[in-house]
Amino acid sequence: MTVPAAVGPIAVVGASLAGLTAVQTLVESDAVTHVTVFGSEPHLPYDRPPLSKEVLKGAWPAERCALELVDDDRVIWRVGTEAAGLDTTDPSVPRIRLRDGAVHDVPGGVVIATGASPRTLAGAELAGVHVLRSLDDAVGLRADLDRRPSHVVIVGGGFIGAEVAAACVQRDLRVTLLEIQDAPFERVLGAEVGEAVIAEHRRRGVDVRTRTAVAALCGTDRVERVELADGTSLPADVVVLGLGVTPNVAWLEDSGITVGDGVECDATLLAAPRVVAAGDVARWPNPRFGEFRRIEHWDNAIRQGRHAALRLLAEHGHGTAEPYATVPWVWSDQYENKLQVVGSTLGFEEAVIAHGSADEQRFVALYRRGRHLVAAAGFNRAKLVTRYRRMLVEPVLWTDALAEAQRAAARTAV
Ligand SMILES: Cc1cc2nc3c(=O)[nH]c(=O)nc-3n(C[C@H](O)[C@H](O)[C@H](O)COP(=O)(O)OP(=O)(O)OC[C@H]3O[C@@H](n4cnc5c(N)ncnc54)[C@H](O)[C@@H]3O)c2cc1C
Repeated sequence: MTVPAAVGPIAVVGASLAGLTAVQTLVESDAVTHVTVFGSEPHLPYDRPPLSKEVLKGAWPAERCALELVDDDRVIWRVGTEAAGLDTTDPSVPRIRLRDGAVHDVPGGVVIATGASPRTLAGAELAGVHVLRSLDDAVGLRADLDRRPSHVVIVGGGFIGAEVAAACVQRDLRVTLLEIQDAPFERVLGAEVGEAVIAEHRRRGVDVRTRTAVAALCGTDRVERVELADGTSLPADVVVLGLGVTPNVAWLEDSGITVGDGVECDATLLAAPRVVAAGDVARWPNPRFGEFRRIEHWDNAIRQGRHAALRLLAEHGHGTAEPYATVPWVWSDQYENKLQVVGSTLGFEEAVIAHGSADEQRFVALYRRGRHLVAAAGFNRAKLVTRYRRMLVEPVLWTDALAEAQRAAARTAV
């Protein structure tokens, strides 16, 4: 009988949610000897969701976002240390190169958890222009909001843009939200649901402008105005860019790993022998939805962090390699409203509000692709969303989903 060998040293690159969860999982195994975590930020892992909510509103100090670390002598945290390259030429000994030139052989393998960075625009270097990804971004933006700017302009009506708008309104600031599509969230949720989600913003005084493209951010040292593609301009002393993110893969150029829109993995999250990826950076074929994509949500970072760590152990004969199948789940808090989306709306062909209504601000919309239900978006309907989340673990016929929703509506009407 062959006894599985000790596993180590292992490198986890990215000291955030997916990386931390991977570490927590790795140290559950007695076979693991050493894990070193390299993180380019100066901070130990912290949670990002409160940055655009409690921290920005001023309800939480930034330190409260710190995540609980693993108390284990086998783990070394090297924050403020950026990985600059990965060499996978020898499949049994991946090699990490750090920005300072140091090289580490890691026969235990590598967990890539380098996340994603915000997209920006020309002019983003002007003072007063912000992105919101890191704790330092949130502290910088909050300090600017504390100075009570007279015009905050938010570019992009997605999750980050909408949450920042809500935080600014709750601070009594004047906000304009610019969205290039017909409605905020249109691409992800459809125009009707997008409008319903953004309605509260309009009611609270946010100047929401759709079909509006930005041409330039202008000012001398500090931003002064946003020029729009239609030739008009808006005064702005704070601008927040909520334009989505791109995966942090530049350091993997020439690594032998396929990168494009993320680190390309197989269904088990393996990117190369003894190299796995997890979280916002990982692109993999999700067998549940037949999609090859990345997911940029908190819950996925945790689940993938765990799965990738187990997959790495399987490379060494500890456990078996399993595909990672998941029903994505994301939430967003805006004012007192909670939006949750379960499943995948990617390429949906039809959206129907099947429970409640947009007017009552309590509803669940269902999404169809082909003959199947692929996602549900709930607005202030947490319990129902949980039901759909369980339901979506298996394929559900669209006709069955609609019939079930009608039965549920009839039961509530009685
Ligand atoms: C403001 C904000 C609010 C959010 N709110 C929600 C929410 O309400 N609901 C929800 O579901 N999701 C939310 N998310 C998304 C969620 O936080 C992310 O999906 C999650 O943080 C992804 O974790 P990750 O570990 O994969 O990547 P990240 O958290 O991006 O961490 C990656 C880390 O790797 C580091 N790194 C990058 N390159 C290198 C390198 N070469 N060497 C070393 N380190 C490197 C980065 O600096 C970073 O610290 C929010 C995100 C943000 C930014």
